[in-house]
Amino acid sequence: MGKIHVLDEALVSLISAGEVIENPASIVKELIENALDAEATNIEIQIEKGGIDSIVVSDNGEGIQKEDCLVCTLRHSTSKIESREDIDSIFTYGFRGEALASIAAIADLDIVTRYKDEEIGTRIKSSAGQIPDLTDASRAQGTRVEISELFKNVPARRKHLSDARVESQRVLDAVMKHAIIRNDIGFRFIRDGKLVLDCPSNQNPQERVLSLWGLDIASSLIEIKRKKKGINIQGFITDPTMSRGNRSRQFFSVRKRPIEDQSLSKTLEAAFSTLLMRGRYPMCALDIELDVAKVDANVHPTKREVRIQDFDDVRNVLRDILSNALKDSEPMAVPETLEDLVDTEKVDEPTVFHDASSARAEGRALLLEETILVKPVPSAEPDLDIKELGSIFNILGQVNMVYIVAATEEGLVLVDQHAAHERILYEQLRNQVNDGDVVVQELLEPIVLKLGVGEAEKILALDETLETMGFTVGSFGGNEVLVSTVPEILGKRVSDDELIALVDRILDIGEKDAVEQFMDELVKVTACHSAIRSGQKIGHEEAKRLIANLFETDGKYHCAHGRPSIVKISKKELDERFGRTGPEALARFRARHRLG
Ligand code: ADP
Ligand code: MG
Repeated sequence: MGKIHVLDEALVSLISAGEVIENPASIVKELIENALDAEATNIEIQIEKGGIDSIVVSDNGEGIQKEDCLVCTLRHSTSKIESREDIDSIFTYGFRGEALASIAAIADLDIVTRYKDEEIGTRIKSSAGQIPDLTDASRAQGTRVEISELFKNVPARRKHLSDARVESQRVLDAVMKHAIIRNDIGFRFIRDGKLVLDCPSNQNPQERVLSLWGLDIASSLIEIKRKKKGINIQGFITDPTMSRGNRSRQFFSVRKRPIEDQSLSKTLEAAFSTLLMRGRYPMCALDIELDVAKVDANVHPTKREVRIQDFDDVRNVLRDILSNALKDSEPMAVPETLEDLVDTEKVDEPTVFHDASSARAEGRALLLEETILVKPVPSAEPDLDIKELGSIFNILGQVNMVYIVAATEEGLVLVDQHAAHERILYEQLRNQVNDGDVVVQELLEPIVLKLGVGEAEKILALDETLETMGFTVGSFGGNEVLVSTVPEILGKRVSDDELIALVDRILDIGEKDAVEQFMDELVKVTACHSAIRSGQKIGHEEAKRLIANLFETDGKYHCAHGRPSIVKISKKELDERFGRTGPEALARFRARHRLG
């Protein structure tokens, strides 16, 4: 007897419906999940031209019974649930019986499958939207699904597909989501005839990371395997020495189902709290296993989200487990001397700039010492005219290692050192790029960047754009990229860590239709990355130069990303806050002079 049946109306109405097939990546996701549900131990994914030309997913799962082949492509045909009670405890990835039907409706389909207990296999072949043809066929146990002519009968949606490079990146992401969590399963990904990813089955998490992300990351893992309050957390996090400039390597799953949930990233980062600098993110692949009755997978058409009962408890447990794991893996250094103690409790004092001459002056730290003259320039932004800032800047110092404080005749002026520097570098590099005249710095020793699967190719595909910006990149084989020149604004001593952080941000820019737009983002990212960071101590001369240079720029009031770079607290505001003017001051004045 067959296993697949068509769900009745009543049951179908309980299932959250929606579009499952948006692009090649969503097809690949559904096919991988079908293979996993069929208990395959090896899955191979092949795409041509980003999957737009063809997608083939083959598995060694149990296969589809001959008699089921007639119905498996019908809407709401599934072997995975039968009654409404089943919806409350879903053990499989699929359960709606929609994927094959949705695919058959919009593309040509060619399935060859052989069920484990049957001798003869079956070929199911259909043209988009047509009734399938069944014939006998032979193959090893398992299933091979081939899809071509995607959206051939829905030209509007075909037009909506991105270019092959982008679609193929999306497919890789979809494969990665499963491959990083299911280290027990073998995954191969072949793109345009090239083997991009090759992970054998039965790897441990560390071996899997080695296959996917390389040795450096694999050797910095903290394995997580702990249970608390019935919640089992398994997988790994990277230790604080290894981090990324974005969250693209944070993977979470619930009962091995990949999910997207920002609150879990927040929980992870909370566990790291002060161990990582701002803007740095840990990597992880963590699976949350809890009672199946507490997980509702039926909330999102593509099952990308799940609803979890008592989710707060889950997050708390996750946080505890991760904090403990981090503590165990890194014994806290015990301060031995008084000096060490003092050092750890040192508060962040404001830095006061003073030079020898002024220190000599009266044996006390002179605050108002150095002045720079700022030429009043007509400003495009009338609400904060340069004249309003004042024209003589007395630079007082740096607060919290990020704000430069200056006194002017108009009040107090605060400059965000990072925002200001970013603005300066942004305009500088932008002008150089526009003039086709970027100042390039040759690296004495070219740097080899070990990137992740797919990342190297993405960077190499940008080589011409990067070149106009001063970066010379070349392939170093596999996932390695050789960098031999960088734009000069990046500074003299670039490290591979820094370049990797920059690569992360470049990969983050995403798709931009216009080249100029992409270039502009690239310039912004490079400027931001090259700029003085917050938390960096700067000297008086440097602060002076920074403010002077900032006033030479066109957009001096904002960093390249639009945050303010200058804030003014006017004399009037100071007077008011100190009760020198305003109603209270008036009342005092009247009282003192016995005015009614
Ligand atoms: P669902 O996964 O929600 O059940 P699908 O449309 O994805 O719906 O698949 C329909 C049915 O076809 C599945 O329930 C399963 O029985 C069968 N099937 C699909 N793909 C495979 C596969 N790779 N191996 C074995 N059976 C499969
Ligand atoms: Mg399915």
